Amino acid sequence: MSDTIRIEKTKTPKQKPDQNNLGFGKYFTDHMFVMDYSKDKGWYDPRIIPYAPLEMSPASMVLHYGQAVFEGLKAYKAPDGRILLFRPEKNMERLNASNERLCIPTIDTEFALEALKTLVSLEKEWIPASEGASLYIRPFVIATDPYLGVRPSTTYKFIIILSPSGAYYPQGINPVNIYVENKYVRTVKGGTGHVKTIGNYAASLKSQMEAYEKGYVQVLWLDGIERKYIEEVGAMNVFFKINGEVITPELTGSILPGITRMSVIELLKSWGVKTTERRISIDEIYNAYNGGLLEEAFGTGTAAVISPIGELNWDGRNMIINDNKIGALSQRLYDNLTGIQFGKLEDKLGWTVEVK
Ligand SMILES: *Cc1c(COP(=O)(O)O)cnc(C)c1O
Repeated sequence: MSDTIRIEKTKTPKQKPDQNNLGFGKYFTDHMFVMDYSKDKGWYDPRIIPYAPLEMSPASMVLHYGQAVFEGLKAYKAPDGRILLFRPEKNMERLNASNERLCIPTIDTEFALEALKTLVSLEKEWIPASEGASLYIRPFVIATDPYLGVRPSTTYKFIIILSPSGAYYPQGINPVNIYVENKYVRTVKGGTGHVKTIGNYAASLKSQMEAYEKGYVQVLWLDGIERKYIEEVGAMNVFFKINGEVITPELTGSILPGITRMSVIELLKSWGVKTTERRISIDEIYNAYNGGLLEEAFGTGTAAVISPIGELNWDGRNMIINDNKIGALSQRLYDNLTGIQFGKLEDKLGWTVEVK
């Protein structure tokens, strides 16, 4: 496990894409990190090699039973040229929580972080410097036994790929409209909703497509048992500001524990804003709205950081939040988080990690 990382550089570096037209997740850098696992050797042969297609058996277990987990984080370029990661150790801890749930052997978090930093450092020329752009980092683990029976694989690959990505809000932050999902559920307590495993996202596509056809950009998920309590919005955690208090659903076992969520809660508390993690029902949101007390609503996640919600449609009942404009607290959170991430504000909480 503590083997040193072997580096094989590409002989054919790619042409870099147009910095001002990156979009998200479309371009990949010259290299990737790969490490294998077998029962006898444990995790072995950590290496950085040219980015290339994987060769694997069509019987690879991941292709049939979805035994795989992933993470998502970003590397940011500060105005002074430093390269920053945001709380990356939290991603590695969560990767292991996901591994644990999917019966995948865990990976030494310090070593995984070292691998990630080594790769980002090698690819630093790929980190876009345009406003709001970053290098998206995708670590993932897949089951590779060529076997058609259902059981945990005995071999795996841990891979990290990098994708230069553009600003999430090239035209400024616009609130999104959200459909409250009342037909499909994302997950239930006891399932896999609290970890980043690939099947969760396949299972959410149908709901997403139907909301899209109705003219909504995302769905708000309700709990899978009573169809009553708020869980998440799309693949983001969700917050509501009601009568001065910020409320977010507590982590019940079916909600993904977002690192942005955790950071928002810590920031709000440090500012003295009353912030509560508890169960909150859609009825309570609707009543607060009717009473004129629903002041702001927003999603949180690595991609968007803060995504204000301008409209909620719950069974035809429409709630327009803060005149469909970003609220003051949402804006303050966005400015502070992105300020810290991009090294423009003092990092008082020690959240950033520099890549040399
Ligand atoms: C990744 C993810 C989030 C956000 O997590 P961050 O660590 O803040 O990026 C929220 N919900 C789901 C379902 C996710 O997959």
